[in-house]
Amino acid sequence: MKTLKIAIQKSGRLNEKSVELLKNCGLNFENYKSSLISPVSNFPLEILFLRDDDIPEYVQDGIADLGIVGENVIQETEVEVSYLQKLGFGKCSLKIAVPNNNSIEDLSQLNGRSIATTYPVILDKFLKQQNITADIRTISGSVEISPGLGLADAICDLVSTGGTLKSNGLKPFADVMSSEAVLIGRKGSEDDDLIKELIQRVQSVLRAKETKYVVLNVERKNLEAILALLPGVKSPSVVPLAEGDWVAVHTVIPERDFWSRISQLKQAGAQGIVVMPIEKIIL
Ligand code: ATP
Ligand code: MG
Repeated sequence: MKTLKIAIQKSGRLNEKSVELLKNCGLNFENYKSSLISPVSNFPLEILFLRDDDIPEYVQDGIADLGIVGENVIQETEVEVSYLQKLGFGKCSLKIAVPNNNSIEDLSQLNGRSIATTYPVILDKFLKQQNITADIRTISGSVEISPGLGLADAICDLVSTGGTLKSNGLKPFADVMSSEAVLIGRKGSEDDDLIKELIQRVQSVLRAKETKYVVLNVERKNLEAILALLPGVKSPSVVPLAEGDWVAVHTVIPERDFWSRISQLKQAGAQGIVVMPIEKIIL
């Protein structure tokens, strides 16, 4: 039987979440920091631990069948791969930022200025789309200190909370792209049965993450009002309780409107609300 290979980041911002996702997919493997490759004991899969910059090319060239990497890295390396699934972690934006005391107000004022970045390909495309001619200074790291050193007028760098910009006296000025971690595969890999199986496992884990399992008790007279608050759910289970007039409602609620929904349910007479995480949702 053939063995698939999936490339994930060896260490850095995406490593922990990538490992966690694969483990939640029921894959058993050792996560030794020292090894480059780790076999999965219960699925025909090997995990390759790499620098994130190398992952798109490894997948394009078929050295790995799958990879987990930020969209920003894929766009920068301009490879031909299939996007199989967005993964909901590693969220960030590539932004142009300028020093706080700078009076630049619109994009056209970047004409003739210099911008330091580790993302020259993406930045070049963006500037061309905006009809701006600027001097792109490609550097390999610590981009945020370059305006202070007089190396560039602006920077183009990844931002998540904005803390690094702030502490370097910079303010975000324009959004170039937003990014998150994605599962990629070799072109055409989505037709492979083993890969389909893995994608389904990943999707069932992601779906479960977005929802909570909720059990609550309610008096029959309030049941209708409670069910009206659960529109997204096809048919919650309603189970009679030993105490005649009471029932238990079992349902799932999307994580995103969880708190507002819970307080509405309480107001409508729900009691003893128990909220549980869901491990997987298989459709
Ligand atoms: P490697 O050693 O693997 O080359 P790296 O230093 O290039 O790692 P990390 O800093 O670990 O990369 O970031 C990996 C990815 O995490 C980025 O490419 C991006 O998609 C995502 N990310 C999320 N938030 C941020 C952030 N605030 N800054 C940088 N990257 C972020
Ligand atoms: Mg890197």
